[in-house]
Amino acid sequence: MTVIECRSLVHIYKATDLEVFALQGLDMTIEEGEVVAIVGASGSGKTTLMNVLAAVEKPSAGQALVEGIELGSLTDRARDTYRRDVIGYVWQNATLNLTPELTASENLQLPQLLAGRPRKERLDRATELLDTLGLSHRRDHVPAQLSGGEQQRLALGVAVANRPKVLLADEPTAELDRASARRMLEDLGKLRDRDGTTVVMVTHDHEVERHVDRVLRIRDGRTSTETRAETGELLIVDPAGRLQLPKSVRQEAGLGARVRVRVDGGRVIIERADDG
Ligand code: ADP
Ligand code: MG
Repeated sequence: MTVIECRSLVHIYKATDLEVFALQGLDMTIEEGEVVAIVGASGSGKTTLMNVLAAVEKPSAGQALVEGIELGSLTDRARDTYRRDVIGYVWQNATLNLTPELTASENLQLPQLLAGRPRKERLDRATELLDTLGLSHRRDHVPAQLSGGEQQRLALGVAVANRPKVLLADEPTAELDRASARRMLEDLGKLRDRDGTTVVMVTHDHEVERHVDRVLRIRDGRTSTETRAETGELLIVDPAGRLQLPKSVRQEAGLGARVRVRVDGGRVIIERADDG
C-alpha cells in the first residue's frame, strides 16, 4: 500500500525580491513499511521535502499525499491532528524533540498524554520504548544527563511514542559518532519491524545506505535516481518522461544542452547533437 505520494511537487520560498525554487516538480512514491533514505547535495531540497511532508511548509504546486491526506489543503486544525496522529518528526538537533525538565520516561509519555492516552498505556509504551532503545537504565535521567547518542535515540522514541504511520527524520545521525549512528539505524529498523512504521530519513551518511530498503537521490529539487540492493542505481523517469542525466555522464559523453535520441533494438541511445 502506498503511504506517501508526491506528484510534480513544487515548493518556492519567496523572499522580498527573490524566489527560490527548492522543489521543482518532485515525484516520489513510498510504500507502507519501507525505510527510505533521501540523499543529495546541500541545497538540493531535502529539508524542504521533509518540511512539506511534516506539514510545516505548504506545497506551492503539485501534490503531496500522506495516508491519502492531501497536505496542500489542510486546515490548521486538520494539520495539528495530522502532526499528532499520522507522523513523527525527529529534528536534526535532538534537544528540540526533548523537554529538558522531564526524565526520559516522562519525555516518552508526554506526546501520549497530549493524545489523551490513559496512564497505564503511557507507562507501558514508555517502558517498551526504553527497552527497545536500550535506555532502560536511563529511565529517570533528564536529557542533560544523557550522551549525544542517547539523546538522539530518546528523540526517536518520543517521535514514535504515539505509533505514527510515518516517521520523518532530518539527518538523524549527523551529530553522532559511528557506533551511535549504527545503533540509531538499527533502532529505526526495529521500530519498523515492530510497528510497521514507514521511515523516511534525510542523510549525508554513506553507512546509512546499507541499512535502508531504498535510497532516493535528489538533484535540484527533483528525485533523480533510486538505489536498491537488488537493482543497483536506477535513473527515475517521471510521469512526463523526464529524467536527469548526472553531470558526470553528460561530461563523459560530451553532451551539451541538446541531444539526439533514438531507439535501437530496445535500447534508448542518447547522442551528442552536432549543434548541441
Ligand atoms: P537541503 O536540506 O537539501 O540542504 P533545503 O531544502 O534546506 O536543502 O534548501 C533548498 C533550497 O531552498 C536552497 O537553495 C536553500 O537556500 C533554499 N531555502 C531553504 N529554506 C529557505 C527559506 N526559509 N527561505 C528561503 N530559501 C530557503
Ligand atoms: Mg537540510
